[in-house]
Amino acid sequence: MTPSPMRAAAEAFRRAKRAIAVTGAGISAESGIPTFRDAGGIWEKYPPEEYASIGNYLAAPEKVWAFWRELAAGLADCRPNPGHLALAKLEAMGLLEAIITQNVDNLHQEAGSRRVIEYHGNARYLICLDCAATEPLPKDSFPERPPDCPRCRHLMKPGVVMFGEMIPVQAMIEAEALARGCDLCLIVGTSAQVFPAAGLPEVAKRQGACVIEVNIEPTDFTFDIVDYFLQGPAGTILSQVTSEIKSMSPP
Ligand code: NAD
Repeated sequence: MTPSPMRAAAEAFRRAKRAIAVTGAGISAESGIPTFRDAGGIWEKYPPEEYASIGNYLAAPEKVWAFWRELAAGLADCRPNPGHLALAKLEAMGLLEAIITQNVDNLHQEAGSRRVIEYHGNARYLICLDCAATEPLPKDSFPERPPDCPRCRHLMKPGVVMFGEMIPVQAMIEAEALARGCDLCLIVGTSAQVFPAAGLPEVAKRQGACVIEVNIEPTDFTFDIVDYFLQGPAGTILSQVTSEIKSMSPP
């Protein structure tokens, strides 16, 4: 009898020697953080093309800061959900080598995941546009105006990668190496629209990795490169995957 996709995915995890996860905004949706695609979310009020680029920030820091301030305030009370916790558990069980996340919300780290590659930075700190010094962004007292660097007095920006900026080199090198070296790539809650992050699962597939996708709806990945598509909310599905793995005898 053919196993269910859930069972087959769990078996693939048990067999894998080097599994990685690539996560996007969808894994944090159940923590109350809107994805780009959610109607009525922050992105409708602040269109990314007007508020999320470095060019916009440099041209009008005060205007764009209002958006980042609201975004950071929205993240302050969010907590990891069962999806984040399930990935941390897989890592603790020795079944997941690393997470490459496009998210900037710090929730994988708060869930206990240890090796997290932040492909698009982290909204919980600021970085100086001149001397690159970093400063934590307090959770409860966001500056009213774009802050100046305490060291050199130049303008600081949120620690996230804005449109028009490079991906941090170290993150890019590490992510590429993980994608090339893995034998299982789990994709969770990403629409496959933002490059170069969206290219990583394809790199893994080309090297022969098994590709498992968790999403509430199919994406461009689903029909092109995915071996097992597990449809549903990440919290529910990833909890089921870990339970299924635990119920199996060792390979
Ligand atoms: P996206 O908004 O383009 O797509 C979200 C994907 O998640 C969709 O495919 C959607 O079907 C899926 N999804 C929604 N709810 C889900 C759930 N409960 N379980 C599983 N899947 C679910 O997000 P993206 O592909 O990550 O690209 C957006 C960009 O915006 C990224 O670069 C990211 O850095 C940034 N972003 C980050 C956050 C965050 O840090 N939490 C939030 C929004 C956007």
